[in-house]
Amino acid sequence: MEGEEPGDPGSRPVALARLGERGLIERVRRRLGPPPADVLVGIGDDAAAVAWPGGTLLLSTDTLVEDVHFRRTTTTLHELGAKALAVNLSDIAAMGGEPRFALLALALPSTLAVADVDELYGGLLEMAGRHGVALIGGDTSAVPERMVLTLTVVGRVEGTPVRRRGARPGDAVLVTGSLGTAAAGLAVLERGSFEAADDVTAPLVAAHRGPTPRVAEGRVSRLAGATAMIDLSDGLATDLGHIAEESGVGAVVRLSALPIAPATRRAAALLGQAPWAWAVSGGEDYELLLTARPDRAAGLAARVTTETGTPMTVIGEIRPATEGIQFVDDAGRPVRVGPGFEHFRSP
Ligand code: ADP
Ligand code: MG
Repeated sequence: MEGEEPGDPGSRPVALARLGERGLIERVRRRLGPPPADVLVGIGDDAAAVAWPGGTLLLSTDTLVEDVHFRRTTTTLHELGAKALAVNLSDIAAMGGEPRFALLALALPSTLAVADVDELYGGLLEMAGRHGVALIGGDTSAVPERMVLTLTVVGRVEGTPVRRRGARPGDAVLVTGSLGTAAAGLAVLERGSFEAADDVTAPLVAAHRGPTPRVAEGRVSRLAGATAMIDLSDGLATDLGHIAEESGVGAVVRLSALPIAPATRRAAALLGQAPWAWAVSGGEDYELLLTARPDRAAGLAARVTTETGTPMTVIGEIRPATEGIQFVDDAGRPVRVGPGFEHFRSP
């Protein structure tokens, strides 16, 4: 890290803003060293995987913090409960696994109404029921002001989990569903009043408040030969960067190939921005981004769509690391795009 060890005794304190979220995680990863032999996947993927009698366990945890991940004014507690679980299920999906159990740690202000807590559980249990997940425990604490929800999910995978690191030059890059929808929804919410009709804004806001974890799609993608996979929580630019970094490759993405819903295009036009901006730099779509050998990509996409009903689109190709990650226009010219999301860093 720039030839120094921020935070070493004797040196001046270094703020997290300089290290960034990724830098901090990397620091922890180096400090821990290699994991024990029965850890198949440690820090650096969507979920950890450990060898367990009878199969492979997947473990993942994710936190939602009030005023960082959500605002009480723009989401219902029912939606929040569902989303807290959905984002964790998404990480299990990104390994090609099947979620089974969840634990919920809640930090709540004492002013919160009991009915609100009931509503939160309502949303969470509905999402759990949809995916055959059992809530088996958690923790409860008071907090002065802002709510914090931490979900831990345990799942399993029958074969080998799909990691971020299996992409090779020549592989096709694919995504499920459509991109930029959640970021468009957030933009609509943050603007307060929006000049578009409800049939434009409603699906966008719904996507932001209620992401759908692509569990079946992840499982089918694993079975159909996905070489690397990640869920899109921080935006395509950032999350493709994780696949590239872990796999030691670069990539090229054609902006015109990105699957963008008509409502997202309409909202982008009203705000005078390029339709692909949210798709590339906006977070929280919770679609799956994956790679596949070029001769298997079309078959994989067709199988996912047949078995789950979810569309899948080839958006680019994996390249050697020396080419970096490029987003290109129809003429193949590189286009500068904004970065995705990272905690501790200002956009
Ligand atoms: P995702 O966006 O898929 O939830 P994260 O970016 O949160 O993934 O985490 C990337 C990797 O770093 C994961 O393997 C996660 O378990 C690990 N990780 C994140 N924060 C910490 C931490 N504070 N200590 C140890 N490992 C962490
Ligand atoms: Mg993830």
